[in-house]
Amino acid sequence: LASLLEVSRTTIINAYRLLEERGLVSTRIGSGTYVANSNVADQQTNDMPWGQLFSPHYKSPLSSLLRSLVATPTADETISFAAGMPDPALYDLKIIEKALINGNPGLEAVDYGHIPIEGYPPFRRSLAAWQTSQGIRATPDNILIVSGSQQGLYLIVKSLIEPRDYVIVESPTYLGAIQVLEAAGARILCLPQASSLDLGVLEDFLIRYRPKLFYTIPTFQNPTGQVMPLHHRQELIRIAARYRLAIVEDDPYSQLYYGQQPPPSLKSLDTYGGVIYLGTFSKILFPGLRTGWVNAAPQVINRLAQEKQYVDLHSNNLSQIILHNCLEQNHLADHISFVRGEYKKRRDTLAGAIRQYCSTNLDFELPEGGFYLWCNIRPPASPPELLRRCTAAGVTFVPGEAFYLNNTESRQIRLCFVTHSEDRLKEGIRRLARIITSGAAN
Ligand code: PMP
Repeated sequence: LASLLEVSRTTIINAYRLLEERGLVSTRIGSGTYVANSNVADQQTNDMPWGQLFSPHYKSPLSSLLRSLVATPTADETISFAAGMPDPALYDLKIIEKALINGNPGLEAVDYGHIPIEGYPPFRRSLAAWQTSQGIRATPDNILIVSGSQQGLYLIVKSLIEPRDYVIVESPTYLGAIQVLEAAGARILCLPQASSLDLGVLEDFLIRYRPKLFYTIPTFQNPTGQVMPLHHRQELIRIAARYRLAIVEDDPYSQLYYGQQPPPSLKSLDTYGGVIYLGTFSKILFPGLRTGWVNAAPQVINRLAQEKQYVDLHSNNLSQIILHNCLEQNHLADHISFVRGEYKKRRDTLAGAIRQYCSTNLDFELPEGGFYLWCNIRPPASPPELLRRCTAAGVTFVPGEAFYLNNTESRQIRLCFVTHSEDRLKEGIRRLARIITSGAAN
């Protein structure tokens, strides 16, 4: 189509995305793009034309494609390297049982109004103590309980960003952050993450654009797995303090280290009260409890709480009570050290299988923690085309372009190594290798 119309491939891809955003076409993995049936039905039956009524939403790259990729990753025979999801086989439901029996929850577990917007007070206290024990000093006034760190991110952006405000992100970065920022109409400046952060470029952005915030995942970054070195963290804080730049430190993975402990968080190095820290129980315990927290200056917590009131009044009581008891009864530390051992084995198995079956086509740097292996694919295979063929062969991954604002030509793929057992990981790589080495993915 691109050569027929004599326009670039990127223009065509963006046009398809726009049509998808408007609900005019839908994409099915491994199958193609179709005219959306619902709109045809709208026209034929005079149904409500919802597509025309929705408020303009800024483009969200690959949204429906990714949603189908990460949905129910273990539901069938497909081996999914796509979802950033822990292995349900490792969920220890006894933790919930013990937290409920020994914690003896009362009416507040199911009632309305017993819990303030900011969170269940004993949970704010136990979380503040837990953060402090990890070197991130906090009082309960610094803590806002949120329904997953994704909600925390949304509340921060809603409270700070107006359309056309500049923000800085690492590139590549977490797709969920790109989407929230784009939906708020932010102008996004990308800081290339070659081997580490380029503080010179950062300072240049600060002088030229006066951005309001910098969103970063400094520890076991999603998708690259990289860790920001200590001296860069210190320098970043120094620069940010000078320019009064807010830093959003998204930190879902720092507890999951498989070698040396990572450097201290930016929040623990914060000298000017400008770091807003986002934590979550999703990767270290149970994602379905939908519980995370924000650790920031009380002034920020109050503003976010106001915004949270509009969204959901407060986070789920029962989840908060379970997690509070879990912290008090010290079950969390045991579980984290258990999954650390398990995920380390899985990371090594995945890396070993790639070296054995497709080392001439894929290369990567072994991450020291987190969930992801970020791989380069040698030409000529292209990740989206490879994904189409792999999906048909029962293995999926996320093409690198999902993590860039404007990079449809990425030669990278992200493989999550924690969702499946070691045997399944090996089988997944065998399937992937068969497709790549067959040459048919070119
Ligand atoms: N931030 C990052 C970097 C993530 O990887 C994820 C989950 N993939 C989230 C935020 C959202 O996590 P939660 O389940 O706490 O909303």
